[in-house]
Amino acid sequence: MGDGGFMASYYNNETILFLNGEFVKAAEAKMDFYSQSLHYGYSVFEGIRSYKTVTGETKIFKAVEHYERLKNSAAAMNMPYHWTTDELIEATYETLKRNKLQDAYIRPVVYAPQNMKFDVNEQSFIVIEAWEMQPFLGDKLLRVMTSSFQRPNPKAFYIHAKAAGHYVNSILASQEAKAKGYDEALLLDMNGYAAEAPGANLFYEKGGKLVTPALGNILPGITRATVLELCNELNIETEEKFFTLDELKTADAAFYCGTAAEVIGMKSLDEYEFPLEWNNSVSRKIQLAYKELVTAPFRLPPKGEAINAQPLLIEVND
Ligand code: PMP
Repeated sequence: MGDGGFMASYYNNETILFLNGEFVKAAEAKMDFYSQSLHYGYSVFEGIRSYKTVTGETKIFKAVEHYERLKNSAAAMNMPYHWTTDELIEATYETLKRNKLQDAYIRPVVYAPQNMKFDVNEQSFIVIEAWEMQPFLGDKLLRVMTSSFQRPNPKAFYIHAKAAGHYVNSILASQEAKAKGYDEALLLDMNGYAAEAPGANLFYEKGGKLVTPALGNILPGITRATVLELCNELNIETEEKFFTLDELKTADAAFYCGTAAEVIGMKSLDEYEFPLEWNNSVSRKIQLAYKELVTAPFRLPPKGEAINAQPLLIEVND
């Protein structure tokens, strides 16, 4: 499940994207074949979702958090970054509007100019793309396989950065799992602890408590943080720690979470079937609470007020 990889067609003749300050037709937009990003995977990106709320508005979920992470990813990679979060959020809402999109997947990419040397660039470029993403069907449980690939070692990469090159690892793991008839992979870290999916974070449930890998060797997911917030609101006990595959295979239930994946339960991991009926799990409660949160109503602030003043958490029914 590469982030956003669910759609067969990403754009058509009418599609508009935001390219370095202008709105242009995707079909006519050009990308430099000599870009350092294409040759070396040297770019940073985000995967964001917008939702049609229950009151019919378009809401970009956790827009500030995503654009702040984009900025931090660029900083980690020594890429110049001269945009503000507010201006990019505004450009994203405008991109959605021009493409008549509400339930969408949004993909900003910050990329590099021509440069085949390994030195720091003086310039960066940005593109924001959006495509349709259907409401998620949360009932299909995943059959997961432990990957033969490990996550990249944080001593080789800034693992908290969402850099394009890191995703070669994700592609290899996902392709391997699918070739073997599974829905998705689970990657371990370089110490052999359970880490994450190719494009999502991991939780397991045991005795009503939710456990997730500690930060350090994984992408610090915004959905992971949201799940922890929801657990706090719903009085569900949580723990962040390193744990082994053996421990994971004693869990009652488990799920992946990410912007694209949302919250998706697991049926099995390798030969191990998670014993708890998904509909009776605390994990299922979180899946429902997440769905309710992302489609909860919210209003854009009046013009002139900071967009990042928007409320990000709303009440959740137990
Ligand atoms: N881990 C990896 C490797 C990812 O690509 C993603 C998707 N961005 C996640 C975790 C989940 O992150 P988020 O919840 O911020 O989408």
